[in-house]
Amino acid sequence: MSNGQYISTRGEAPELGFEDAVLAGLARDGGLYVPKQWPTLSPDTIASFAGRPFHEVAVEVIEPFTGGAVSRAELTAIAKDAYASFDHPAVTPLVQLEPGRFVLELFHGPTLAFKDVAMQFLSRLMDLILAKRNQRATIVCATSGDTGGAAVEAFRGADNVDIVVLFPDGRVSDVQRRMMTTPTEANVHALAIDGTFDDCQALVKAMFNDHRFRDEVALSGVNSINWARVAPQITYYFAAAAALGAPHRKVSFSVPTGNFGDIFAGYVAKRMGLGIERLTVASNSNDILPRTMATGTYEKRGVVATSSPSMDIQVSSNFERYLFETQSRDAALIRSQMASLGQSGRFEVRGGPARLAEDFAAESASESEVAECIRETRAATGYLLEPHTACGLIASRKRQSAPSTIPEVVLATAHPAKFAEAMTDIVGASAPLPARLSHLLTEQERVTQLNNDVVEVQNYIRTTTRAAR
Ligand SMILES: *Cc1c(COP(=O)(O)O)cnc(C)c1O
Repeated sequence: MSNGQYISTRGEAPELGFEDAVLAGLARDGGLYVPKQWPTLSPDTIASFAGRPFHEVAVEVIEPFTGGAVSRAELTAIAKDAYASFDHPAVTPLVQLEPGRFVLELFHGPTLAFKDVAMQFLSRLMDLILAKRNQRATIVCATSGDTGGAAVEAFRGADNVDIVVLFPDGRVSDVQRRMMTTPTEANVHALAIDGTFDDCQALVKAMFNDHRFRDEVALSGVNSINWARVAPQITYYFAAAAALGAPHRKVSFSVPTGNFGDIFAGYVAKRMGLGIERLTVASNSNDILPRTMATGTYEKRGVVATSSPSMDIQVSSNFERYLFETQSRDAALIRSQMASLGQSGRFEVRGGPARLAEDFAAESASESEVAECIRETRAATGYLLEPHTACGLIASRKRQSAPSTIPEVVLATAHPAKFAEAMTDIVGASAPLPARLSHLLTEQERVTQLNNDVVEVQNYIRTTTRAAR
């Protein structure tokens, strides 16, 4: 089945089936796996999503990407179990903020950020694949804050997997850090790296590109470079749009963006047949994507720390998947662009701003705009936004100031309790943690501090994880 075949954006890695692409994470040529063909869903199927349980919509959306490698019954069991870990019966409920504008609350999972939607699914899927093959894996994951906690929560105690998370020391919130450092299971390893998120991501990529090490410890990745991180996120674009009248009515989305994973899922939803009017990339002051959309030049600058740390990123990994699509799947061009990024910190997108504007709008929000938006929204509606979601709302309003007949959905990517320090600065108080998480603040932490040095990290992994033995 052709939909089950995955190809690398850099064209020099073997084609893989769904299960191998899931276990591989990053392709061996440094590229990202994408499906050879995009499946589509019929208008009738999309219409049938209205009012259906989230896990059923997830199965309909994800199944076409599996090429039959995982049975429908297995997928259903995984999805049902994954989304039972959410504390809202709708899993990702829509809340109306003002005429024509909604927030899609993606933070009802165990670690209070949207990453649970994919990670809870992926951990069960990986476990199934490894168990079938009688294999073990070492999962290494770089985090700007939220991915690490979601991965640790999803894989803690897993029989076949060790989970190693690398986070930038001192640059994540207390709640984010504690989600990684308080679990007591022996298969959980939290590493505080003396560096930025981009440094952590570069360490992970370097370990994947060291093929001997990669095979020695059976390295696997759950950053959004893993296709099975992106696929489950497509679900909520369909579910939200169907709730607002798709396929009979178009819907727009504004998406707080860092590594380009979540918004790429929206792009895929569109490719699969969902009527999306506008897809807006929302950034904080780290505005590499809005600059790229405006100029056609992707150019790295220094990262500045903001109140939305999960978007404090300069190298958006999943942008490569989109580049591959928009540049006619020209893998040689991707290779030369990525080489240029490595050497000079920049490259040109073929087709320039006009080509990019066909698929995305883009806006950035300053720190003062974020604070003002959170205060003003609370005063007007009583609704408490956190800073990432505020960037999404600001971008939406910059694009569409007057009410429109086409509804716009702002993705609410985290719960305000996760960013207590920033919320206290902005509104003078933090949102309380949900009761099921209150234990976090008092439990003992377990963390290893390491330098920004790939050999040091590799030695740590060799000596502490089980697949290496
Ligand atoms: C990870 C994250 C983002 C950015 O998502 P990407 O898929 O990396 O673009 C935005 N907001 C929050 C709260 C996050 O945790």
